[in-house]
Amino acid sequence: MQAMNTFGIAAVAQQFVRIEQCEQLAVVRCDPVLSGLPRLVLGGGSNLVLPDSVPGLVLQIALPGREVVAQDEDYVYVRGGAGENWHEFVQWTLELGLGGLENLSLIPGTVGAAPIQNIGAYGVEMQDVFHQLTAFDFNSGQSLTLNKEECCFAYRDSVFKRAYRARMVILDVTFALPKAWQPRLAYADLARTLAQQQIDAPQPADVSAAIIAIRQAKLPDPQVIGNAGSFFKNPIVTTAVRDRLLTHYPQLVSYPQADGRYKLAAGWLIEQCGWKGKSLGRAGVYEKQALVLVNRGGASAAEVRALASAIQADVQARFGVELETEPVFA
Ligand code: NAP
Repeated sequence: MQAMNTFGIAAVAQQFVRIEQCEQLAVVRCDPVLSGLPRLVLGGGSNLVLPDSVPGLVLQIALPGREVVAQDEDYVYVRGGAGENWHEFVQWTLELGLGGLENLSLIPGTVGAAPIQNIGAYGVEMQDVFHQLTAFDFNSGQSLTLNKEECCFAYRDSVFKRAYRARMVILDVTFALPKAWQPRLAYADLARTLAQQQIDAPQPADVSAAIIAIRQAKLPDPQVIGNAGSFFKNPIVTTAVRDRLLTHYPQLVSYPQADGRYKLAAGWLIEQCGWKGKSLGRAGVYEKQALVLVNRGGASAAEVRALASAIQADVQARFGVELETEPVFA
């Protein structure tokens, strides 16, 4: 499965089925051997750390399809099959002249994986434009439609990482893209890039092009260096914790949240602990962005875990802040 996970771990699956038609899921569910195995549902494998040997059944979701399904006064509704490449899907909506997904350009992975961790970047989360999704329920054998509330979206989180993990397989996702589009330019890198390009009134495609340029400059291309994007969530702390840290570290990077707490930049905490560019075994911390762990060549899940744990321990010891990992450990 080395080519099926962006971290490039040379994992071997006990059983493997590629799902290209929804009907195959019902067949798998009734199969006397496959139905009894633990399941791992695989999209683009971009937010995943695999063990060398994956026990049970790996289901690779490769369901295709893109269509404009409806529109009303306020929104155009577009649907993508779960197996569609996320970035290509975003580009397709932009080619149709539809805005809403541009800040999420160039995120690796598939359309079906996007709701699982409620992907987010540059001030936009997938839930901001999510309408509904269809999923196959392995418990009942039925397909059902889930709305935003039922998906329990949170920061890089949803019900699919929790109660529905391995139970539900997302088949397709529908997004509501606003007809009255407004650019979301709050992130400094984005505003700076557009200003450098002297674009005062950006269109969705301009924002997408700027995001692509920023990401290409800052983040490692998984085709070149194995990685799973941001490896840790940005911790959210109380005002008291943030104020205590500020007295010791006036340079602390933090952002106020709607609930009165503060988000700390995990990358900054890791960098302060001296991990940027360092390695432990064959796993390392990316030179240009300390939030990204990389495969220096042949890294195993155990090496990645060891590096992540060492970073977590150092950040805890120095700042008293717990870092939570973002990718799924299979
Ligand atoms: P950055 O611009 O260096 O900023 C560092 C952190 O500060 C980010 O993680 C971001 O939090 C937060 N931040 C920056 N400006 C903010 C603002 N105006 N308001 C609120 N929070 C702000 O971040 P970066 O590492 O280059 O990443 C840029 C964006 O791409 C971020 O949104 C990041 O989450 C996203 N990204 C995600 C992944 C992934 O694998 N999940 C990988 C790469 C980049 P948030 O992370 O909460 O936005």
